[in-house]
Amino acid sequence: MKEYRIKPLLTGWFNMNWGLIMSPLASGYFADLPVFMFLIEGEGGEQIVVDGSYQHDHVPKFIFGPHRTPDLEVPEVLKAYGVDPLSIEKVLVTHLHHDHTGYLHLFENADLYVQEEEVLNSYFPMGYQAVGCAPEEWVDLLPRFRLINGDFNVQEGIDLVFAPGHTAGHQAVAVNTSRGKAIILGDAAYMYAGLAKRFPKQFMEMIGRGGVAGKEIDLSDPEVQETLSRVFSARYGGYFGPSILNPGEIMRTLAKLDAMADVIIPGHDPELVRMKVIPDDYDLE
Ligand SMILES: [Zn+2]
Repeated sequence: MKEYRIKPLLTGWFNMNWGLIMSPLASGYFADLPVFMFLIEGEGGEQIVVDGSYQHDHVPKFIFGPHRTPDLEVPEVLKAYGVDPLSIEKVLVTHLHHDHTGYLHLFENADLYVQEEEVLNSYFPMGYQAVGCAPEEWVDLLPRFRLINGDFNVQEGIDLVFAPGHTAGHQAVAVNTSRGKAIILGDAAYMYAGLAKRFPKQFMEMIGRGGVAGKEIDLSDPEVQETLSRVFSARYGGYFGPSILNPGEIMRTLAKLDAMADVIIPGHDPELVRMKVIPDDYDLE
């Protein structure tokens, strides 16, 4: 089967309240989360793009605190990685949150692969989801949307995997590599810590630095340990803030993705900044 390499393209940062992405209990703790696009490279120079980053002016600044230096502007990043947007034929869109759709318009000749369910729910978003959507960025692109329903084979070695929960029609991307199947999670989990069982070290570090109550937590406290042991015995995920549309669904999604993945690539983990090429630089279990 064809093999590919994946490059995380850093395109900016959100300074986010943990209360939004993890739990209302965590309000008050802030963290810088990177915003990525991903470049899938095949043999012979083939390039496929995943997601479209954000436009600064379309993101509510009081919630997401977006910031990027000039070298992280999307056109600059694409140039640095040798990507001519006009020559890209396929863009795979994990979901239609505004940090994934901002620059889709640059890819003027590409088919945009999106779940049909995602389009419907993002044009008429429910409740709090509305702060994460900017339909004005993509309504004009609808004629080039390829509407997908469920799991879908894009081409040899690349599959879309229906992965709802973060949003109604969210999808992940499964890519065949020399290290087996790499799963670009999208926002099914923002960070490695979101798969608590598979990455217990990352999960514990997040809890320890204040991820639950907005203050440092003593991990040696027996009561804390007892609570955490319940998390590890029962759950894949570690956080379920308002940014998750459906907590029950995200559990099933994470179990499904975890079972098929040899290499995990979450949506917004700072660890990915140092991984220039995956799987070459991938050093996690
Ligand atoms: Zn999202």
